[in-house]
Amino acid sequence: MQILPEIKEMHDELTEWRHRIHKHPETAFEEYRTADFVAEKLESFGIEVHRGLAKTGVVGTLTHGSGNRAIGLRADMDALDLQELNEFEHRSQIDGKMHGCGHDGHTVMLLGAAKHLARTKNFDGTVRFIFQPAEENVAGGRVMIADGLFDKFPVDSVYGMHNMPGHQVGTFAVCKGPIMASADFFEARIIGNGGHGAFPHLATDPVVIASEIVLAWQNIVSRNVDPLQSAVVTVAQINGGHTGNVIPADVVLKGTTRAFDPKVQDMIENRMRQIAVGIAEAHGAKAEFSYDRRYAPTINSPEETDEAIAAAAELVGDSGVNKNVAPVMGAEDFSWMLQERPGCYIMIANGAGEGSCHVHNPNYDFNDEILPLGANYWVRLTERILVQEAS
Ligand SMILES: [Zn+2]
Ligand SMILES: [Zn+2]
Repeated sequence: MQILPEIKEMHDELTEWRHRIHKHPETAFEEYRTADFVAEKLESFGIEVHRGLAKTGVVGTLTHGSGNRAIGLRADMDALDLQELNEFEHRSQIDGKMHGCGHDGHTVMLLGAAKHLARTKNFDGTVRFIFQPAEENVAGGRVMIADGLFDKFPVDSVYGMHNMPGHQVGTFAVCKGPIMASADFFEARIIGNGGHGAFPHLATDPVVIASEIVLAWQNIVSRNVDPLQSAVVTVAQINGGHTGNVIPADVVLKGTTRAFDPKVQDMIENRMRQIAVGIAEAHGAKAEFSYDRRYAPTINSPEETDEAIAAAAELVGDSGVNKNVAPVMGAEDFSWMLQERPGCYIMIANGAGEGSCHVHNPNYDFNDEILPLGANYWVRLTERILVQEAS
C-alpha cells in the first residue's frame, strides 16, 4: 500500500479518536457529543465550521487557491440501537447503543483527511467535509439536503465511502451505475367486519383477505418486474386478531421493497396498491395503502467513479480495486446526495478471516488498521479532482 508517511504517522491518533467515538455511540439526530468532537477537531485544523443542518450535522469548508471548483466528501456519524457484545476496552459505554456499522471509522477517516488537507493544501478549490447524522433508518442525509446543504455549501460532485467486512484489507470495491438499492416501506390496513369465529358468513374476514394480498404481491416480482431487472417485496409484519375465536375487524401488513431502477419502484408501488385495494374490494372489504420512499437507489455516475477508482488504485494498485462489484439490495441515504450531484460511493475492505463479522452484528468492530488508508483515499481523491495547475 502506498500510504503517505505523514498520514501513516497519524495512525495512533486516528485510532484514539475512533475508540473515543466508539465508546459513546449516539443514534439518529442525537449525535451531539460526536458533532462537538468533529467540530472541535475541524476548528483546530483551521477549517471553517458550520453546524445545525439536520440538527446535528457538521459541514467544514476548506478553500485554497483561486479555483472555483468544489467537492463534497461525506461521512456518517450515527450508531445503531444494538447491544454490543464485544469485551474490549473501547466497547460501548451506552446500554443498547453501538457503533455496529462502522460510522465511527467513517467519521475518523474523513477527519484524518481534513487534518492532512488543511496542513498541506495541495489542491486548488474548495473541499466541503460533510458529517451527517442519522444514516440508519431515517435518512438524515436527505434532511441535510432539505435544510439547504447544497445551496449553502455548493459542490460540483460528492463522494461517500463505507467499510466492507469480509474482504482483505488494502482493497476497494465499486461499480458504475446502481451500487445499492432503494428502500421503501409500506403499510396496508385491510378493513373487514369482525365477528364470531364460528359464524364467518356473518363477518368479512380481513385475515383471509390479507393472506391473499400477501401472496398476490409476490407475483409482482415474478410476473411484473422484467426478469433482467431486480426487485424485492418483503412483507415483514402481519398484525391482526387477539384471540382464537374472534374474527378481527382489521389486519395490518407492513414491509419493505427494494429496487435499482426508479421505474421499477413506481411500478411496485402502483401494483401493490392496485392488488391490495382490488382484492379487498372483491371480498367486500376495504384496503388503505401507504408507501414511503425512504432511500433512493444509490447510483454512481461514470466520470466521478473513474476518479474514485483512479484515487484508490494509486494507493492499492489496479488489482486492489474491484471495479465491477455486484450491487446489493441494502440501501444507503448517500443516495439522496447522488440524486442532487454526480458522485461516487465506494466500499473500503474492513478485513477478512477470523474475528471479522458483518455490520449490524453485536460483535462487529471497525478495523483500525484501515484508518490511514481511508484517510489517504480522501486526500488522493481531493488532490486529483482539485488538481493544482503547474505554475
Ligand atoms: Zn448500517
Ligand atoms: Zn452503515
